[in-house]
Amino acid sequence: MDVNTLHIGGMGFNVVAVLVTVTILGGALGYFLARRKARKESLLQPAGPPKDYTVFLKGIQYILANDTDQAIEAFTKAVQINSETIETYVALGNLFRAKGEIDRAIRIRQSILLRERVDAETKLQALFDMALDYKLGGLLQRAISTFEEVISRAPKRLDAYEELESLCEATHDWQRAYELQQEMRKLSNTNNQHIMAHLRTEQAKIEIEKGNLDSAQAHLKKALSLDSHCVHASLQLGELYWLKNKKKKALAIWKKLVHKNTKWAHLVLVRLQEKDGAADEETRVLDFLEHIAEENLDAVAQMSLARCFMQRNRKEQGLASLKRALEMEPDLGEARQLLGEILLEDGDEAGAVSEYRELLSHLGPARKRYRCQQCGLETDKILWKCPGCHDWDTVQPRKRGG
Ligand SMILES: [Zn+2]
Repeated sequence: MDVNTLHIGGMGFNVVAVLVTVTILGGALGYFLARRKARKESLLQPAGPPKDYTVFLKGIQYILANDTDQAIEAFTKAVQINSETIETYVALGNLFRAKGEIDRAIRIRQSILLRERVDAETKLQALFDMALDYKLGGLLQRAISTFEEVISRAPKRLDAYEELESLCEATHDWQRAYELQQEMRKLSNTNNQHIMAHLRTEQAKIEIEKGNLDSAQAHLKKALSLDSHCVHASLQLGELYWLKNKKKKALAIWKKLVHKNTKWAHLVLVRLQEKDGAADEETRVLDFLEHIAEENLDAVAQMSLARCFMQRNRKEQGLASLKRALEMEPDLGEARQLLGEILLEDGDEAGAVSEYRELLSHLGPARKRYRCQQCGLETDKILWKCPGCHDWDTVQPRKRGG
């Protein structure tokens, strides 16, 4: 089904067309009244319907019939007959945007902005529309600077803040996105501290890349003061301490995180799996792993734990974790594969063959590891903001069988 089509009572409505129509119909009323007044004032005006609004009405009929091309033609004619009707320009701009003809849409907005006898409100809307055109046309920096201008002219326009903030996220300008969230918080009084915590964490990651570890630490501390439950920030703060060679602190943070909610344990363990571990810290890491092993871990975490143990030559503990993982999820392919590898290393070919046979019998469509609680989007990678519904913290590890 066309995503732009709504079905109401068996009738299909094109959403874009309906939106454009609403804009135009609203404007049309003002237009008619103005025309009527003008006619009354001029007694010399000949009787009969003037040509200009007949053409205008035709344009609206085409929109209702979902015929964008004919509508554009009609409105273009209407503009030629009477170039003073701003509503027609707005409608044309929106029609061009809906058709993906962004350049033409932008030119129309510009023509509105350059007119002298247009009120500030209409010009502001044209500027907003132009920013949206730029965004849809992929000209993100232009869209950003245009939305910035909208905000400077109308500092309370929440929809402009929202658009601009999402563009700043898309272009990784986390600092500006954070400032905009602060403004939005003041304007709408909604609780967005959990979002601000993510934005600070993203800033911290950039500082880490640049080698500015102290600045990164300040961002992460701020993130956790905004939202003490922010998993993203806790993971990253542990990472930062690890980089600063403060491994005791790193492990303490991760331990706390796992203890709070074991569903995030695999994210911690995967990080440890990637670290070879200096010999002097091994005892500390092993203590940590043994502590984690006592938590109520899910199959994926058990498997990561198994890998961590194996890397540190703790085969017995590794195998125990692996078996627990397979008891919980017999079709966890990665765990069977690891078990097969271990058995082969031990020279137990028969055992390995039997594991691989099991692995093959369980092969099916790969199940995604995470799922958005809000829109149902599934992913294999943890995403702190769902690309489907654009909400934060809605993507969660899937429960067994879920
Ligand atoms: Zn979602």
